[in-house]
Amino acid sequence: VQGLERQKVAVLGLGRSGLSAARALRAGDVQVLCWDDNPKARAVAEKEGFTVRSLKGAEDFEGIARLIVSPGIPHLYPAPNPVVAAALAASVPVDNDIGLFFQSFATLAWDKFDVAPRVIAVTGSNGKSTTSALIHHILEHVGRSAQLAGNIGRGVLDLDPAVDGDVVVLELSSYQTELARSLTPDIAVFTNLSPDHLDRHNGMGGYFAAKRRLFAEGGPDRAIIGVDEREGLFLAGQLAEAASDDRVIRISVTRKLTGPGWDVFARKGFLSEYRRGAQVASIDLRQVAGLPGDHNHQNACAAYAACRSLGLAPKVIEAAFHSFAGLPHRSQTIAQANGVRFVNDSKATNVDSAAKALAAFRNIRWICGGLEKDGGLDGLADASGGVRKAYVIGREAAAFAMQLTVDTEVCGTMETAVTRAVAEAEPGDVVLLAPAAASFDQYDSFERRGEDFTNQVKKAIGQG
Ligand code: ADP
Repeated sequence: VQGLERQKVAVLGLGRSGLSAARALRAGDVQVLCWDDNPKARAVAEKEGFTVRSLKGAEDFEGIARLIVSPGIPHLYPAPNPVVAAALAASVPVDNDIGLFFQSFATLAWDKFDVAPRVIAVTGSNGKSTTSALIHHILEHVGRSAQLAGNIGRGVLDLDPAVDGDVVVLELSSYQTELARSLTPDIAVFTNLSPDHLDRHNGMGGYFAAKRRLFAEGGPDRAIIGVDEREGLFLAGQLAEAASDDRVIRISVTRKLTGPGWDVFARKGFLSEYRRGAQVASIDLRQVAGLPGDHNHQNACAAYAACRSLGLAPKVIEAAFHSFAGLPHRSQTIAQANGVRFVNDSKATNVDSAAKALAAFRNIRWICGGLEKDGGLDGLADASGGVRKAYVIGREAAAFAMQLTVDTEVCGTMETAVTRAVAEAEPGDVVLLAPAAASFDQYDSFERRGEDFTNQVKKAIGQG
């Protein structure tokens, strides 16, 4: 962490990223003060020897050079956390670990590298983790040194020092891109945009603006942009300096793109790359087991474009696709029994991602429900054509079920939902957990929800 040596820096939020920021700052000769509203998190920091101090008034920020805020803590909407508000009132700059990372990265001594390290940043509403993990997987497959960090993998300030030709793949949420003071990736990916977290961005415009910061003026050398929504299409059009500019790669899973620039799209299971209107490569994605469904084909297009930007050949990328196992809790087949397939997509926490999961399968016994996101369940009706029946979980299961347009049973708990779905499933059916809602009414996290589903399934089919 460059530029803050011997100064005082406050860290708000002592989860994974906050603690890693505190440690990195301390190792960089910075005096760290920290706070978390949760006494358990404070105790962990104290045990590590950090100074814990309440920072709720502007006067508490005297002599403090910077406040580092964790992504889970509101810094603007619906209202700034009181500690953030105090820092702002005291004119203390507010930043996050991502901003610190880019600030330090920019000051690396580049002359010590034969091949400069590169940073790929991935943002978007859905598919960030899958795309980031896929890029990382492809790079490892070809023997490039690669590290995965941000929302997935390690905290950015826990990364190993960069080596020759190193690639850092960063998954970034909109909270992280909105707050980071420095944001200078070499390659930036924007997968797609759908309403999510709107409360924290004051609506769709704020949400798009937060993500768009990755592409601000003087931005990445290469911008890979999903153009299936108007926002992405607009951004791609605005970034290209000329129609044939190679700085932008457009990606799509809804349209054949054969523009004057550089395009990658997937249609009917085939990924195609076009440059200046001529086809360069084609890959059959139907055989790629780890990336089922159009939504994963979008992720494949994004990862393909990022790896092409690094100079990898299409054939090499295709080979790496085949050894990608997928990520836990995302379209993950967890069991097969009596002709029934069980798929855990607990990560489908919003309507759009659940709709994508539903579109990837047929004959679905759909387990859904939980804490509803803003915007309700609009858009799910169109996607539930492949659903035979819904089994609804969650504290508000009855209210959730009322909004569905398919045959529905209110189950409440995961155990009941799985038992009922297993009892009614016939060979060829897919029992799919794709909740279209957050998990916090019944679980600590979507991971716990996915694990509960997996355990209940194993129990119900006698493999537990
Ligand atoms: P993120 O990191 O952006 O939350 P993930 O890769 O973890 O994205 O996937 C989250 C959920 O969204 C998964 O459950 C999956 O079903 C769905 N999903 C994955 N990729 C896409 C995509 N490109 N478009 C829409 N939904 C997707």
